[in-house]
Amino acid sequence: MNPSVTGRIHSIESFGTLDGPGIRYVLFLQGCPLRCLYCHNPDSRSLEAGTKMTAGEVLADILTYRPYIARGGVTLSGGEPLLQPAFACEILDGCREHKLHTAIDTSGIIPLSEAAPALDRADLILLDIKALDDDLCVPLTGASNRNTLATLDYCEAARKAVWIRHVLVPGYTLDEARLGRLADHLRRYTCVRKTELLPFHKMGEYKWEALGCPYELADTPPPTDEEVRRARAIFESRGLN
Ligand code: SF4
Repeated sequence: MNPSVTGRIHSIESFGTLDGPGIRYVLFLQGCPLRCLYCHNPDSRSLEAGTKMTAGEVLADILTYRPYIARGGVTLSGGEPLLQPAFACEILDGCREHKLHTAIDTSGIIPLSEAAPALDRADLILLDIKALDDDLCVPLTGASNRNTLATLDYCEAARKAVWIRHVLVPGYTLDEARLGRLADHLRRYTCVRKTELLPFHKMGEYKWEALGCPYELADTPPPTDEEVRRARAIFESRGLN
C-alpha cells in the first residue's frame, strides 16, 4: 500500500448495514460520470468537490472501527468509486493487509482498462445495473450500459462474487417485460450471488433543489409494496434470490 496517494471523499458512514454483508465502514468517494435521473446524491457527482484525504488517513480512520467491522468489512461507494481507481486500489490493499473484507459498490461505468485492478482486489462487487437495454439506460443515466455488462462478464470470468442492484423506477425500470429480460440475462451468471431490487425514493430531492438543478422525477411516485413484491417474484421465478 502507498499511503500517500490522495483522493476525494464525499462522506463516510462508519456503521453501514445496507452495502454488503455485516456491519461495514462505507466510504463514499466523490465524483460520478453518470447523470441518473433518480440520483439521491447529486452533490457527489462533481470530482472537484468533497474532502481531500490520503489513503493512509482513510485506512487509519477505518482501523479505529475495526472491532465493529471485523465480521463485516469495508465498502467503497460513491459517487462512482472506480472514478478514482488508484486511490481505491491503495485503500483495498490496506484493508487486505489488515484482513478486512472489502466490497465495491459500482455502476460499472468505468472502462475495464481502468477499473480492473480495483475489481481484482475486492472480495465482493455490488454492481448497480441501471437498465439492461440502452434505449432505457441512455435516457435514464446519460450513458450506455456497455461497460456495466462488460464488468459483469469480467467478474464471471474472474469468479468474483457479485451482488446485483437494480432500482425500480415507475415509468422507467418498473416494467414486467424489462424485469423479465434482465432476470433472464442475470440467471446465466454463476458469479451473481444475490439480487437486490431497490424501490426508487425521493429522499435526495432537496439536494437537487439546493444545487439549482431541475428534478425530473418530482412527479414520479415510489413503487407500492405490491409492485415491489411483483418485481421480486419475477426474479425469483428465474431462480434469482
Ligand atoms: S451512479 Fe449513483 S451517484 Fe452516479 S449519478 Fe447515478 S445514482 Fe448518482
